[in-house]
Amino acid sequence: MQWEIVIGLETHAQLSTESKIFSGSSTRFGAAPNTQASPVDLALPGVLPVMNKGAVEKAIQFGLAIGATVAPKSIFARKNYFYPDLPKGYQISQYEIPVVQGGRVSFILEQNGKAEVRSVQLTRAHLEEDAGKSLHEDYHGMTGIDLNRAGTPLLEIVTEPDMRSAAEAVAYAKALHSLVVWLGICDGNMQEGSFRCDANVSVRPLGQKEFGTRCEIKNLNSFRFLEEAINYEVRRQIELIEDGGTVVQETRLYDPDRKETRSMRSKEDAQDYRYFPDPDLPPLVIAPEWVERVKAAMPELPGAMRERFVGDYGLPEYDAAVLTQSKAMAGYFEAVVAKAGREQAKPAANWLMGDVSSTLNREGVDIAEAPVKAEQLALLLQRIADGTISNKIAKEVFGAMWEAKSDSPALADEIIESKGLKQISDSGALEKIVDEVLAANAKSVEEYRAGKEKAFNAIIGQAMKATRGKANPAQLTELLKKKLAG
Ligand code: ADP
Ligand code: MG
Repeated sequence: MQWEIVIGLETHAQLSTESKIFSGSSTRFGAAPNTQASPVDLALPGVLPVMNKGAVEKAIQFGLAIGATVAPKSIFARKNYFYPDLPKGYQISQYEIPVVQGGRVSFILEQNGKAEVRSVQLTRAHLEEDAGKSLHEDYHGMTGIDLNRAGTPLLEIVTEPDMRSAAEAVAYAKALHSLVVWLGICDGNMQEGSFRCDANVSVRPLGQKEFGTRCEIKNLNSFRFLEEAINYEVRRQIELIEDGGTVVQETRLYDPDRKETRSMRSKEDAQDYRYFPDPDLPPLVIAPEWVERVKAAMPELPGAMRERFVGDYGLPEYDAAVLTQSKAMAGYFEAVVAKAGREQAKPAANWLMGDVSSTLNREGVDIAEAPVKAEQLALLLQRIADGTISNKIAKEVFGAMWEAKSDSPALADEIIESKGLKQISDSGALEKIVDEVLAANAKSVEEYRAGKEKAFNAIIGQAMKATRGKANPAQLTELLKKKLAG
């Protein structure tokens, strides 16, 4: 039996406002327990929530960025449940009428050596408050409650069940992460819980129309856990069904140490929460002028930038999509081109997607902290373009530039000079080397002349070695052919 995987994601992005969504207390992470919890967060009797305008503006920005409808009027609702870290006995959220409706997020999916642009349809994004945290103490076997997080503004972003593999879910989640960071509405810090995903996973026989029963895996706070949890859950469900069992709709937790998901509780239905409009909060009214003001103050978005990279710099779609995956990468690219010239756009893209990215990945460094600055890379590209060094030598120079950690704008030149890496294009010098190589490789020369084309590669390899890679490859090939023919 062939199975199809169906995934929908619910992501909680913590909005980076100074104060909480309904109170004036600080949202700063890491303070001593309960030092940032006001009477509103503690749910003392008689307090009233007051909407944080900044949180609404961030939701509007998100809606605009994904081409969604920003609801002119949305409603806050009470989601009732008991939990020790939820002192009110309900969470203020949005239910029937959320602030952001629809929209799409597109991303690049690389699979089986192919890269394609995909997009996922969003159902909605709504504003809500976070709960506090239970802290379990091993020593006394007691649990304490820290309400610093209670009332932190969240945007919950819900997709349609559009994704068909763990890899696709991860690609979507990464694109969403870079979008909210790009917009500056979320700091994206996954370790601190600023961006966490719930994955809804089901399987169905390939070709079947109806969805299978889903399980929801809660609170995945790394892309690796997201991928591992989905893959485990898919295997679990398929094995269960193939053994004659049925999947029960439930909420599960991922245990990264054992790399498995475990049942947490049976899934509540919406009716269990007894949602109703919060009488303490009036409807959230967003006038068109407000949306316009927010729009005018927004940064250029990845989609628009991608189109501009194709139009202005003549980059292929794929390159433009890769470079605009993060604002820092896009900015770096534009800084290189501004310095090196527009005709260096494609080489700059190649370098950023190639050596620069692989070095960043290997060293675990973000492009914003790369020791080689954009102007420094620009000079390196210019030195390839003007024939001072070959592409191959440039890789060596780049490595040395990375190690040098220098701010000098002329770093590439300094390294080429001090390491003697200038390309040999003086034909007299090259001819001398070629003659020596031919003399020392009489056997290969003989074979080549006898018709063995392959022997040429051996000869050119020796010549390159003799020049320590510094010969101009085109010039060297031409010279060798001429000499061998003569
Ligand atoms: P709830 O509010 O109870 O969590 P929703 O219907 O709003 O339920 O769906 C939550 C998420 O689950 C959405 O992202 C949706 O796309 C996804 N989803 C719904 N049905 C399925 C299914 N059968 N398989 C996988 N994901 C699903
Ligand atoms: Mg849910």
